[in-house]
Amino acid sequence: MATALARTHEAYDVARVRGDFPILARHVNGHPLVYLDSAASSQRPRAVIEAVDHYETHCHANVHRGVHALSQAATDAFEGARERVRRFLNARSVKEIIFTRGTTEAINLVANAWARPRLGPGDEILITWLEHHANIVPWQMVCAATGATLKVAPIDERGELRFEAWEALLSPRTRLVAVGHVSNALGTVLPVARIVKAAHARGVPVLLDGAQAVPHGGADVQALDCDFYAFSAHKLYGPTGIGVLYGREALLREMPPWQGGGDMILSVSFEGTTYNDLPWKFEAGTPNISGAVGLGAAIDYLETLGPGAVHAHEQRLLAKATAAALGIPGLRVIGTATDKAAVLSFTVEGIHPHDLGTILDHEGVAIRTGHHCAMPVMDFFGIPATARASFACYNDDADIERLIRALHTAREVFS
Ligand code: PLP
Repeated sequence: MATALARTHEAYDVARVRGDFPILARHVNGHPLVYLDSAASSQRPRAVIEAVDHYETHCHANVHRGVHALSQAATDAFEGARERVRRFLNARSVKEIIFTRGTTEAINLVANAWARPRLGPGDEILITWLEHHANIVPWQMVCAATGATLKVAPIDERGELRFEAWEALLSPRTRLVAVGHVSNALGTVLPVARIVKAAHARGVPVLLDGAQAVPHGGADVQALDCDFYAFSAHKLYGPTGIGVLYGREALLREMPPWQGGGDMILSVSFEGTTYNDLPWKFEAGTPNISGAVGLGAAIDYLETLGPGAVHAHEQRLLAKATAAALGIPGLRVIGTATDKAAVLSFTVEGIHPHDLGTILDHEGVAIRTGHHCAMPVMDFFGIPATARASFACYNDDADIERLIRALHTAREVFS
């Protein structure tokens, strides 16, 4: 295993990968940029920028409805991107791939089209303490509208789900399990295979929020056996404003449309409207066509690098950065799960995370500070915020050295 990982590392040419990302050549505050905020939004490789540019320059028109050449080119590009997403997720059919604005909209789609019509007083939705607000608030809204109850499974001091406690909360009234695949605030990888198995044993469908999982190695929805899977392109080296909801076809068929308008219909009259087939039934209005093209190119790019090689590279960086950070007096790592994605959340005694972020920015080092849209996680650890460095395919050892040096500088400023 160690030899295989070492070989993967040798084969991974991070200098070449960095060269694919034009933005990494820029300076910030007089320093070469060190970008460690990919968990919020990753940067785009030239392949994505050029694919979007090519589409805009040569192919743009509205999709589906036109007989002219450009409309057909745009439709081919858009539907071609859907097929790329299908392959990437290993979904059975493109009918199961719905384009959304992102993870947030994908989860809201399930909340509105699956949960709201089905749930009533006494029913339960089970989430965990680790969720991003996008996987909390839509369920709170469903509960407010239907009288259902939101149950929240606890975590431990390492930031891991207490699986037995989670399982104990699965009740005969649980109608849906919604859980993050990877925590954005801490990097914890959740035991989603066990979760799906336990939920399905009780006949409960499972939604996985894959926003932070997909960039670090992809996802196979058939292997995961989940019922819904959501992710955003902009964390996967793709554009903003586009994401995906995977849904099991049988479930999607039973769901009413969420939004009405063009493209989601077959025919409209004042006597009645018939809805379009899957997946278009859930795509009302003109979609984000260039975004889908960019997402397709981002998937191609990640597949060229090899999701496994990217994962191994990021894990090496995470281990190195964690070890180096622990050498800084007063630094506390928040989230020490055994299985973690490349996210390093921390606090430094005597320095507010926002001040840390500002000082690091002066040094050209971009990290995220705040509650990371996961306020319950911050509450659990009794802190208002953390500083978070997150690693992607283009980060290297020099980035870690610059991060650690900038943290020492911050300590000197505050000493
Ligand atoms: N879920 C997780 C775990 C996230 O990290 C994020 C974004 O940070 C989201 C959901 C929301 O993603 P978006 O803002 O792209 O809809």
